[in-house]
Amino acid sequence: MVVTIDGPAGAGKTTVSRALADRLGYRYVDTGALYRAVAYAARRKRMRTDDDAALEELCRGLDLKFVTSASGQRLLSAGTDITDHIRTPEITMLASGVSARPAVRAYLLKVQREMGRQKGVVFEGRDMGTVVFPDAEMKFFLDAAIETRANRRYLELQDSSSQKPEEVENDMRQRDQNDSTRDLAPLVPAADAVIINSTDLTVDEVIEQMLAHIHKRVDPGS
Ligand code: C5P
Repeated sequence: MVVTIDGPAGAGKTTVSRALADRLGYRYVDTGALYRAVAYAARRKRMRTDDDAALEELCRGLDLKFVTSASGQRLLSAGTDITDHIRTPEITMLASGVSARPAVRAYLLKVQREMGRQKGVVFEGRDMGTVVFPDAEMKFFLDAAIETRANRRYLELQDSSSQKPEEVENDMRQRDQNDSTRDLAPLVPAADAVIINSTDLTVDEVIEQMLAHIHKRVDPGS
């Protein structure tokens, strides 16, 4: 099946999606990395991120591919490994900006659907269950309190960024606001998504809950 996990930044989607994919023997796709790749390419070209025609052309020149290596999943853009360059606070905010542009969403919609043609995938993002895979067999929406999410992100970034806790939280609030109020594919739970709040749950507890829902979906009599 196709499993989708949507939710705001810092809710634990990446950790949970990877582990769930592992447990199911599925592939895992971090779609936020694709938006980050577009933002990174736009930044390198010093492009405006609200110029749809230029973004469309930029996207046409990208060839985004996930490959698995000894150090985990890597993202290649036109053959170059950009994995280590797309997690900075600057690219994070730019990704939120480009993700509101129609040209970028149209391009990545195709890329993501292509990646989902062979089933057995866990897709993590913002609009996986609502727009990209509305017919997905199993949809989750993972949420958590803003303070918890900001604190998790702060701990994650400690080695690579000098951002203070309050700056991380402000950026996150801004991103939440951008992602949930944009016209195109805003961050909202799909009507048929199972909503899980991870504020007081461990990663293992979240995964166990998800697996229980998946088993029930596969075998309703169990
Ligand atoms: O998940 P991550 O934080 O890496 O996503 C970066 C940005 O990409 C998000 O803030 C959001 O604006 C955008 N995004 C999106 N749709 C997705 C995945 C990410 O709009 N499916």
